[in-house]
Amino acid sequence: MFPEAFAYYAAHTLDEALDYVDQYGYDAKILAGGQSLLPLMKLRLAAPAVLIDINAVAELTGVTETDGQLHLGALTRHSTMEFGCWPQHPLVAEAAQQIADPIVRNRGTVAGSLAHADPAADWGAVLLALNARVEVRDKHQSRAMPMREFFIDTFTTALQPTEIITRVEIPAPPAFGYVGGHYYKLERKVGDFAVVGVAVTATLDQGGRVLSAGIGLSAVGTTSLKATGAEEILVGQRLTPELISEAAQVAASESSPFGDRRGSEEYKRAMVQVFVERGLLAIAEGGSRVTVHSA
Ligand SMILES: Cc1cc2nc3c(=O)[nH]c(=O)nc-3n(C[C@H](O)[C@H](O)[C@H](O)COP(=O)(O)OP(=O)(O)OC[C@H]3O[C@@H](n4cnc5c(N)ncnc54)[C@H](O)[C@@H]3O)c2cc1C
Repeated sequence: MFPEAFAYYAAHTLDEALDYVDQYGYDAKILAGGQSLLPLMKLRLAAPAVLIDINAVAELTGVTETDGQLHLGALTRHSTMEFGCWPQHPLVAEAAQQIADPIVRNRGTVAGSLAHADPAADWGAVLLALNARVEVRDKHQSRAMPMREFFIDTFTTALQPTEIITRVEIPAPPAFGYVGGHYYKLERKVGDFAVVGVAVTATLDQGGRVLSAGIGLSAVGTTSLKATGAEEILVGQRLTPELISEAAQVAASESSPFGDRRGSEEYKRAMVQVFVERGLLAIAEGGSRVTVHSA
């Protein structure tokens, strides 16, 4: 199927892109990697009158690291995160390599995935676990919000039609500790969207006590979810098998999956529990841990 006719503008600077979104508002859509928007347009599930292509906006490119904090320009592709070397953030590469296939990963962007807000997308869970922040800007001002305030509902975010995501910030893990992180994705076949996705990260002090913990869930609710109850149970404690089991059960109870032909509600909730437990056990055993800073 062909998309409906649309006007196409290629912005070369952020100001130019912001002028376009200010002018066209609800009638316009930003075009980043096109890996979600273009399929929707081809199926005529979306029919924006105007496309604003931001791929030539240099201000939106690049990943920088400051004291362990990652700053992702809005045009950061999934593949950049897959092949980047950020030992303090072991979760990001592990998750990125599980998104779709190399073609999608080479084009699709982290910010585009967030703006699209598919509850089965992988970045939502990962960035909720990592307590990331999203920076957005309109023609007049910029604002930043934590990931947990960004997702409002399925395919719905706090982003206004005159705003563009400019950056995603992943905070540094606490200093003087060991950080570990894993992303587990149940999928029918390689490259599929998640039936259940679970991101688990924790930073431990020298004695093995949890300094910070993050658990994000995909495909088990109307949005990507942050399992805050399970996170709270972990902080300040040692990762004993009993504590891990308790946190996994709480995370499962915080999910609200729908049953469908890929699995019943009970099955998906059970998989959340299995994956959280698996991730925390792996971190406790030190498999993927890296030293953040030495004292
Ligand atoms: C075959 C296939 C398999 C896939 N499998 C997976 C998978 O396993 N896991 C997964 O997570 N995803 C998957 N995806 C989706 C993929 O990750 C997309 O790349 C991503 O969802 C959207 O990013 P994009 O840059 O392509 O955005 P686009 O398609 O260009 O845009 C998507 C939406 O975001 C808006 N947008 C984009 N950038 C901005 C910005 N900076 N500011 C404001 N709004 C913006 C657009 O206007 C549009 O509404 C798959 C896609 C395909 C085609």
